Amino acid sequence: MEVMIDKTLIQLVQGDITKLEVDAIVNAANTSLMGGGGVDGAIHKAGGKAILEDCIKIRNQRGGCAVGEAVITTGGNMKCRIVIHTVGPVWNSGANNEEEKLRNCYKNTLTLAEYNQVTSVAIPSISTGIYKYPKELAAGIALNEISKYIVNTSTRINKIVFVSFDEVNYEIYKNKLKGIC
Ligand code: ADP
Repeated sequence: MEVMIDKTLIQLVQGDITKLEVDAIVNAANTSLMGGGGVDGAIHKAGGKAILEDCIKIRNQRGGCAVGEAVITTGGNMKCRIVIHTVGPVWNSGANNEEEKLRNCYKNTLTLAEYNQVTSVAIPSISTGIYKYPKELAAGIALNEISKYIVNTSTRINKIVFVSFDEVNYEIYKNKLKGIC
């Protein structure tokens, strides 16, 4: 499924984000930036050691990446030019400002993408795996923040791909996107 918001194409796909031919892909990283499970593990595996080397440099410079923030590395062996690593919140029943933190992930990711002349970006469903953010809520936040960003800025990002690993999440995004069009 795809729709236009302003001049940006929003696409929903189901699959493995590491295989996509886009300018940048987004990683749901952790604060250490040293890799992990889920999409993080898949990205480090597909991208190779150049990504970890960049992550180590960032760790040495600024101690990692805080929740809600984003940092950039090479795409290594993948087709994408860069990886934007953002750290989502761990779900704690909503008692820990999780919504604001997740919103910050999307805002800071797009701002950093823009700054690095990214024209197309693929984004996984941040925090909805190991970090257990409810998928429905997370998809609503993702689509809402991205559409706000497009409408409120004169963005040069012309394609944003939301990548769902499983069918359940894909259907959730589809229904949410229908709701905002
Ligand atoms: P978090 O720790 O932020 O929850 P996870 O990697 O555990 O990060 O999960 C985030 C989302 O990424 C989940 O919806 C999960 O299904 C999805 N995911 C896992 N592997 C991939 C992949 N290779 N491509 C795209 N999405 C993936």
